[in-house]
Amino acid sequence: MMPPARAGGPHLSLAGVTKYYPGNPQPALVEVSLEIARGAILALLGDSGSGKTTLLRLVAGFDQPSAGAISLAGSVVSTPRRSTPPEERAVGVVFQDTALLPHLTIRQNVAFGLHRLPENRRRELADQTLELVHVAEVGDRYPHEVSGGQAQRAAIGRALAPRPALLLLDEPFNNLDPVLKWDLVRELRALLEQTGTTALFVTHDRDVAFTVADRLALLRCGRLEQVADAETLYREPANAFVARYLGAVNLLPVQRRGGLWVSALGEVAGAEPVEVNGTVAVPVRPSQLRVVRGRLQGAAGVHGEISGQRFMGEYRALRVRVEGVPGLAELTVHVPPERHYELGQEVQVTWVRGVFAGGPR
Ligand code: ADP
Ligand code: MG
Repeated sequence: MMPPARAGGPHLSLAGVTKYYPGNPQPALVEVSLEIARGAILALLGDSGSGKTTLLRLVAGFDQPSAGAISLAGSVVSTPRRSTPPEERAVGVVFQDTALLPHLTIRQNVAFGLHRLPENRRRELADQTLELVHVAEVGDRYPHEVSGGQAQRAAIGRALAPRPALLLLDEPFNNLDPVLKWDLVRELRALLEQTGTTALFVTHDRDVAFTVADRLALLRCGRLEQVADAETLYREPANAFVARYLGAVNLLPVQRRGGLWVSALGEVAGAEPVEVNGTVAVPVRPSQLRVVRGRLQGAAGVHGEISGQRFMGEYRALRVRVEGVPGLAELTVHVPPERHYELGQEVQVTWVRGVFAGGPR
């Protein structure tokens, strides 16, 4: 059942995949090319309607691309002309709504995909999987008799029981409360590592993606905007959309001067500017800035006054109204949560030491 493993190559590969739905002139996916290495976890991020589920369904084999090709372990499984059936792809799928079968127990649900195996092997794999996803103690209950977390664990167990080489998850934790969600996110990461399973994890939650994945791919209107590890995506976004999607950001106008990008806060070393409405700006995260009380004569940075502040738990978010800098009305700065400021207080905003100063970041 496993596709033949080919050393070195990616486990999953999409090459120029485009998808049109019948009767819909807007493509759901546009020339998407993407690779996942064996055993790696890729998070697919994007707003509602950006094409995440479509991509996942194409990989699972539930639908066919309009153009391009999908390969698993070096073998082409999907083109517009031919498609390997889902059950021959060694792929497991977990959907947002668990869709456990209500008339089967948790144990029977987990064993559901194992019907082609001999009875003893089937029992062995079901037992192992129930332990793996921590639902062994409720194995004899029906789905309506377990908690939401247990149902979602069972759904993951059902997908993992046949030991798929690739697991596809479509926003599996959306309907769970936060504490449970984070427990499951961490468990899932450990589970995938433990079983060496390659995974494609669809989510629109940045923090979930950062926690689960080795690399992230951001979809927008069916197009891949950027594929990178969390830090690269956060610090070196390819464009303003990616910069904003990954969290609060200041788009600081810059000008080219003598081979350097220079902003109102001084030169910006080692950062790539992005285009914003026809001008160039460098994305600066609020944690890369600091404020100093008062007006420092001759010091680097820009002068402004506190125009808002919010306690956010891990940090305090300050808004600083800036004067005299073209294209820059306000800056967001994250400071330690213990620090208090008065509205209207004069401050100087500068880089956090070491950031953009040309030294190591
Ligand atoms: P996501 O999972 O990111 O929310 P989808 O892959 O479900 O996005 O949808 C991508 C786009 O394709 C959307 O514009 C959606 O309306 C459209 N779409 C999805 N399924 C169908 C379908 N069966 N027929 C026509 N259009 C569809
Ligand atoms: Mg979806």
